[in-house]
Amino acid sequence: MVETGRDYQASEIELMLIRHGREETIFVTFVYAAIKIKAGKVTKIAVWVLENTRQVAERESKELTRVAFQQERDRLKSFFMQAPVGICILGGEALTFELVNPLYQQLFPGRDLIGKPLLDAVPEIRDQPIWEILQQVYQTGKTFEGNSLLIPLSRTDDGPVEDRYFNFIYTARTGLNDEIDGIMVFVFEITEILAGQKELQKAQDILNLAIEASELGIWRADFGSDQLHISDQTRAIHGVPAGKQLTLTESSAMIREEFRERVMKGIAYAVEHKQDFCEEYWIDPMDGSKSRWLRSNGKAYYNENGEPLYISGTIADLTEQKEDDIRKSDFIGMVSHELKTPLTSLTSYLQVLQSKATQSSDSFTRGALDQSVKQVKKMTTMINSFLNISRLESGKIHIDRQTFDMAILVKETEAETVVMNNSHTFIFHPVERTMVNADRDKIGQIISNFISNAVKYSKPGSTIQIACVSEGNEARFSVSDEGMGISPEDTGRLFERYYRVKNNTSISGFGIGLYLCAEIIMRHEGRIWVESEAGKGSVFYFSLSLER
Ligand code: ADP
Repeated sequence: MVETGRDYQASEIELMLIRHGREETIFVTFVYAAIKIKAGKVTKIAVWVLENTRQVAERESKELTRVAFQQERDRLKSFFMQAPVGICILGGEALTFELVNPLYQQLFPGRDLIGKPLLDAVPEIRDQPIWEILQQVYQTGKTFEGNSLLIPLSRTDDGPVEDRYFNFIYTARTGLNDEIDGIMVFVFEITEILAGQKELQKAQDILNLAIEASELGIWRADFGSDQLHISDQTRAIHGVPAGKQLTLTESSAMIREEFRERVMKGIAYAVEHKQDFCEEYWIDPMDGSKSRWLRSNGKAYYNENGEPLYISGTIADLTEQKEDDIRKSDFIGMVSHELKTPLTSLTSYLQVLQSKATQSSDSFTRGALDQSVKQVKKMTTMINSFLNISRLESGKIHIDRQTFDMAILVKETEAETVVMNNSHTFIFHPVERTMVNADRDKIGQIISNFISNAVKYSKPGSTIQIACVSEGNEARFSVSDEGMGISPEDTGRLFERYYRVKNNTSISGFGIGLYLCAEIIMRHEGRIWVESEAGKGSVFYFSLSLER
């Protein structure tokens, strides 16, 4: 400096020094000025030193605050932008869109909002109450909450105005001196949710109408709770006083004892196997009114782990129908009973004639008598079936159990079958020793019924195979034929009373044979079922517990 004569200055230089016995960092600004006395020669240097530590510290702290503020703003903005509701900020009295998040913009996909006053951007709100409300929020600062409010708006600038529904909050924004300088809007469009609810309500109304018209009762039982939820109709059918809660225990106590166990087991089985159930039974209503015959249909509903959550179903009151049926079958029973006596003597006379005819040489008479005996036997079987039905329905049928070997019963039937039918080939194999405890006559009736159906519903010359085997702890009897078979929609209904497959009307029958079989098997706690394919043939089965 002495040589050049130039001044030197430096500002806010960081220095380290020991002051008041401590190390300190300070900032100084200094100027070195050359003082020339003659001929440009530097003789002295003037030094000014100014300490700016405080100014530097203040500036740095201001900078930190500014950065923190900026970061906070950015965070807030990113919250606004990602928020799961529509958010916008309307600034100033003109309510100009200052900030619009993507969800808000989605409410007006084709419209330019940012920087525009509300009335310029969305002019259709000018005459709507919502404009008034915004003004009030701006003036009073009171937050406004709107629920399911209808605001007719168009989505695009020149699009049609649509009825749209929103949940929203308008809240005033205040500026530096606590003066309101804008409004924050949080909004959630619920038009589609409401439309969905309306559709649901419509469907519910239609369902209610249908349920009312059908006079069906509805019920639901949650697992792990004894409480039953019942509709008014279910309440009326069961004679439950108004306002009284019904429990499962109470409702099962109303079922007549002879049906109770079967119904409960049927429902439990359906729940376990994820099937529908259908049970019919008598109940004695709670209010002591007359007994009713009910049909209860339903199924269980499961969670994603397959655990049952609740069972729900319908109840139909079929008492009148049932009483009609009972009257009819009483009548049939009476008539059948009356027919039995003359038919028994007719059989005896025919058998006497038949034995006499064996000695005569008149082959026509012998043939005609053989046919007559066969036909009378058929008629007797038919009448016995009618009698059985009527006994069954009036609860008069009873199961006379004994322990016997089904193989022997099957062998007896074999002899009879082969004599009576020469149209088919019969294979009685395998027929294993299977001891059961059951009503021998009635099981014999089922075996004959399966075989006579196989003969009836398959072509002459085809083969019918009869088997009786032990499977685990069950005795299983089956008859398989190569006949017309049964389509899947019929297989489930064959065991219903009077049910006949539509296209077999050319073959005579009443549709009671299999119904009787099923009722008898059910009373033995056995199972009865069919496996069949239309056009290929059928296999009818029943199984009973083995007696060891
Ligand atoms: P019915 O033979 O008197 O009509 P059933 O109760 O014995 O009454 O049988 C009910 C219906 O089941 C029959 O009408 C027939 O359509 C069907 N069915 C029974 N057995 C067979 C079989 N082996 N093959 C095909 N269809 C059968």
